Amino acid sequence: MAHVGFIGLGAMGGPMAANLASNGHVVTGYDTDEESRDRAAVTGVRIADSAKDAVQDVDFVVTMLPNGTIVSELLIGEGLLGAMRQAATLIDTSSIDVATSIQVHAEAEQLGLGVLDAPVSGGTAGARAGTLTFMVGGAALTLADAQQVLGSMGEKIVHVGGAGAGQAAKTCNQMLFGVTLKAVGEMFALATSLGLDHKTLWSVVTASTGDCRALRSFCPVPGVVEGVPAENDFVPGFASTLMLKDLRLALSAAADQNLELRLVESAAESYGELVEQWGIVDSSAVIKTVVAHNDEEVYA
Ligand code: NAD
Repeated sequence: MAHVGFIGLGAMGGPMAANLASNGHVVTGYDTDEESRDRAAVTGVRIADSAKDAVQDVDFVVTMLPNGTIVSELLIGEGLLGAMRQAATLIDTSSIDVATSIQVHAEAEQLGLGVLDAPVSGGTAGARAGTLTFMVGGAALTLADAQQVLGSMGEKIVHVGGAGAGQAAKTCNQMLFGVTLKAVGEMFALATSLGLDHKTLWSVVTASTGDCRALRSFCPVPGVVEGVPAENDFVPGFASTLMLKDLRLALSAAADQNLELRLVESAAESYGELVEQWGIVDSSAVIKTVVAHNDEEVYA
């Protein structure tokens, strides 16, 4: 069993750290938010006084933070990497841009640390159940060593390639998810206009070529799939702000490669509108932007 320092005990990091602790690892955690610290403390995570205290003398440091700016500021700017023990390994599971991830790899390697970018998919439900998928970038030997930690939080661990490759794969997944979730919203807008029953349509489409995870796990109309955010006033779930961030990461990566992604551009515009008008809600609430444009009542 390993000693793990865990930074970022939020919606994802909280249950991930709890799973590490319940699998027998010694977990020392830190979050700037007091409520997150308190929630983690009752799940067997020892709470440190600062991020630096949490990462000293541990075998692995896992970070699960909101974005690349915070990851870079904390690890490089505030010197968290420098506070880690030589030969310890950093596993950054946050979803961030490829360029920052590559920079973190370079800085960590220079300090003699192991480093992996390992963003996840599976959402808060997967984090709680310990069934996350990890998309991993970095050296194969480092990953082999980190399996004991990743295996306590997830079910599927895929080595995608070298530094930043995990983030690249995550960005590709997120752009597809964002676009399909918006398309699902548009489908219900049209279906409602045509007088179709939502539940009947759902059964038809989930048995047809339109079937997708967005429709099954984030169905944006209530009364069809139990327990989805649409049934709970669009409380996230997967927050609109995170989706917008991920689509912008995809557009920025595409721009770097001189690629035009028109569907992603359109989706990013809709999630931007969602965040501006409705704030932090579940991403499936993107259906509200469709409804508003078409002046239709999807919830009738
Ligand atoms: P969250 O906002 O719930 O958690 C992030 C935590 O980081 C917060 O508790 C915050 O207080 C803490 N934090 C911020 N700055 C900090 C700092 N300097 N030091 C210590 N703690 C700090 O977000 P989340 O939903 O857990 O998402 C985290 C990451 O996981 C994001 O990159 C997101 O894109 C990705 N992700 C989220 C989901 C999901 O369903 N929520 C799914 C897959 C991936």
